[in-house]
Amino acid sequence: MTLEPLAMPWLDAPLAQLLAQQRGHALILQGRFGDGLLALGWRLARAWLCESGGPRPCGQCGSCHLADQQTHPDLRPVLPETWQLALGLTAGEEGDGEGKASKRKPSKDIRVEQVRQAIDWSHTTSGRGRGKVLLLSPADAMNEVSANALLKTLEEPATGLRLLLCTEDAGQLLPTIRSRCQSWRLPSPEDAPVRAWLSQQGLNDADDLLRACQGQALSAWQAAQQGWRADAWRALPRLVAQGDAQSLSALAPPDALRQLQQLCHDAMAVAVGGEPRYFDRQALPARLRLEALVPWSRALAQAVRQQDHPWNAGLLIESLVLQGQAALAPAAAVSPRRAAAQRPATLRP
Ligand SMILES: [Zn+2]
Repeated sequence: MTLEPLAMPWLDAPLAQLLAQQRGHALILQGRFGDGLLALGWRLARAWLCESGGPRPCGQCGSCHLADQQTHPDLRPVLPETWQLALGLTAGEEGDGEGKASKRKPSKDIRVEQVRQAIDWSHTTSGRGRGKVLLLSPADAMNEVSANALLKTLEEPATGLRLLLCTEDAGQLLPTIRSRCQSWRLPSPEDAPVRAWLSQQGLNDADDLLRACQGQALSAWQAAQQGWRADAWRALPRLVAQGDAQSLSALAPPDALRQLQQLCHDAMAVAVGGEPRYFDRQALPARLRLEALVPWSRALAQAVRQQDHPWNAGLLIESLVLQGQAALAPAAAVSPRRAAAQRPATLRP
């Protein structure tokens, strides 16, 4: 696995633009990871270090080969351990000599030790003489201590060092970090090239998939790799309305929670007269009550915040599906007894 699992043609123009315009030593790349943001950062770094002198990484020279093997001495990606695992990268020297790194839960943060090691690395001599690139992603995964450790390097970088900070939301970075970097935003690609690309990858009829992934092609491809199924997606509103948690129990808990949140989002949108974003309108119950959905939405948000706690994930999802069943119940669901009491006396048996 690599930081750029597939060539994404809509990144070509942004790469050319970046190579033509980028002059400073520190750049914030903002955009959506599901559109290929990290791949763009990786390609830009490879292009800077490529020894062919061409307008993009050639894929042939010694530098490109080392980058492809994740062994380039002058290119250092710094990612949270959870990302390293998801991308199939080894933790490498991030074991930080504690000896118990393997027993620790993988960190979602870019830890201060990672930043300090990267700063030390930046002061060593460039291995191939074309400078060095430090790629931090997602840069907002740096906590305040990590970010502060990086500040001095941003102010006075070692000679030839370039810093790339990838993030979906630059607003999450410290103002002191932002003010020391140039900023650039990756536009989301048009629909047509995304569909053509998905079709090239063997994913035809990707309407539901793209909707579920908010139009993000790389996310859609990854979801398909992980066994995402359109029929299961279409059935989800009905199954949750029936209190059936079985289809969700096969998913990793974060994925199950995200799908429930997407369903809840759409139900709330419809309840206030808006349009659903992820599901077909027809797949959702006809009449929805906002007051019933709000508590479910809160419970889901809380579960997402606490998903690292050692809950029994299966029980948690089951309970959230049952709350969803109640929340999705139609507005006119009045108990037969109450309905009888409300009937005019003359019609009573
Ligand atoms: Zn090259």
